Amino acid sequence: MKKVLRINMTGETVAWEALKDDHVLLGNRGLTAKVLTEEVDPACDPLGEENKLVFALGLLAGTGFPTANRLSVGTKSPLTKGIKESNSGGNIATFLSRHGIKLIIVEGKPREKTLSLLHIDADGNAELVKADEYAGLGAYELNEKVKSAYGDNIAVACIGPAGERGYSNSTIQVTDYSTGHPNRALGRGGVGAVMGSRGLKAIVVERAKKKADIMYADRAQFTRGTRDFTNVLSRNRATATAMRLFGTMVGMAVTGKSGALPVKNFSGERCMILDKIGATKFQQNISQRGGSSSLPCQPGCPIKCSNIYNDANGNYLTAAFEYETVAMIGSNCDIDDLDTIARIERMCDDFGIDTIELGATIGVCMDTGILPFGDGEGALNLVNEIINGTEFGETLAQGTEVTGKHIGARRIPTVKGQAMPGYDPRNSKGTGVGYATSPQGADHTVGTTSGSARDFLKTGRIQMSQKIQVLYATVDNFMCHFAGLPLASTHRYAIEHIAEAMAGKYGGEWNADRVFGIGIQTIMLEKAFNRKAGFTPQDDRLPRFFYEEASPMTGATFDFTDEELQQVIPF
Ligand code: SF4
Repeated sequence: MKKVLRINMTGETVAWEALKDDHVLLGNRGLTAKVLTEEVDPACDPLGEENKLVFALGLLAGTGFPTANRLSVGTKSPLTKGIKESNSGGNIATFLSRHGIKLIIVEGKPREKTLSLLHIDADGNAELVKADEYAGLGAYELNEKVKSAYGDNIAVACIGPAGERGYSNSTIQVTDYSTGHPNRALGRGGVGAVMGSRGLKAIVVERAKKKADIMYADRAQFTRGTRDFTNVLSRNRATATAMRLFGTMVGMAVTGKSGALPVKNFSGERCMILDKIGATKFQQNISQRGGSSSLPCQPGCPIKCSNIYNDANGNYLTAAFEYETVAMIGSNCDIDDLDTIARIERMCDDFGIDTIELGATIGVCMDTGILPFGDGEGALNLVNEIINGTEFGETLAQGTEVTGKHIGARRIPTVKGQAMPGYDPRNSKGTGVGYATSPQGADHTVGTTSGSARDFLKTGRIQMSQKIQVLYATVDNFMCHFAGLPLASTHRYAIEHIAEAMAGKYGGEWNADRVFGIGIQTIMLEKAFNRKAGFTPQDDRLPRFFYEEASPMTGATFDFTDEELQQVIPF
């Protein structure tokens, strides 16, 4: 897979290029970092002419390697003002890989305010099509309209009105393999706003009539590595059974018990509503209302952590209803009704808003007395303020840090301008070190350490965070984050299976060190970009309240010194 599609929105041109030789052994997050480092001035305005939006597939996309068909998007983020990668499952990476497309680079801006759509037809022809008729449409309605225009056998990545308006909490929504709905999100960092600033409403990919050839250096060796890695997934309790039954919601019981689950704007208190919003209730609602669990979001995923969540009348409400959304809009806002949280998620998917950023923003509003904790209807009203574009809604849409400063909040849970996801950094200290030091800002995809009930202890967390950050930066070049879960405990031998698959695919000598080298290279590229964007070690810190306020549940503070944090990722 070596095709590169370069879309220039100023000249409205579409050009094919070959993948550069030194881009071949990078995928997803690493490949976006490489292109951005080479082509984008780190000091540029994220919504200006010079920024680019880079969509990349993984190193083993198009093959039968488990969860290898994931889509990454990279850009300079309007939220963090640094490099950002966000990734998603869904069907679009599979569709792109069938066309042999590894990379799409979107550059320039239209001279006049107008919307376009990138259409890739079944024969692999790509063109920009005028899309002003879709202006202002939510992702769900847009998806139905493009199906009417291009048929049902398509994959779509699109922005909602939030991206069109340039909101810093905006997403790019991707169609899900199991439902066909745009319920998967390239969620973090305001990537939707960058797509909106290019005037690109959607990418629509028809299923290729003829599948592009995938070349292997040694097919039998690739198959051995793939088989052995798939066996690792099928032997691991989380990936073989727990996630299939409960999806990512399985994490609620663990983090609720350890104190990592954020409660009332990261107060550090124990969650008292776990029975109402936890995995058991979630699964009960799904089975009693005719929903589904154990669904793959991308073709061939053996983990199948996705779901369909119906309302009380048995009608589809949302899908891919996940831990991070329930943690941030549920426990973090003390909203104890799963249906209210699901309604908010559906609105976010449709309008194109990141549920993590939104949950943190609402939590800060509640903490500051704008509405009480637990006020679900009030939270829905705030989402409607964003949708209706009221003055306060426009502030909310610029994210947690902007909102917090605007309303005079003292406790604003952000790092590098981005809201923390669903792990309190005092009670999941390894995760907190990752929030502080990752070039991605506070992000769950940099790797969490919350599996341990003693994660509120400091010992060993610096080394653990470094190991986890390298591991997940590596995983983010290949596959879904959740396929990386067994690697956290068994990583040395399991990563050898990836090395074998790589040797079979690309040839040459591969071992675990060489595979991890891809993750290290990725982080180095990202750190170099951020340094040129003006970041200093002082940006690798958590907000003061995590150092000063002990968690009432465990007594823990975030007690790392600046010197200790500077030891993390020293390369
Ligand atoms: S593990 Fe879950 S999120 Fe990952 S590819 Fe499979 S279904 Fe999608």
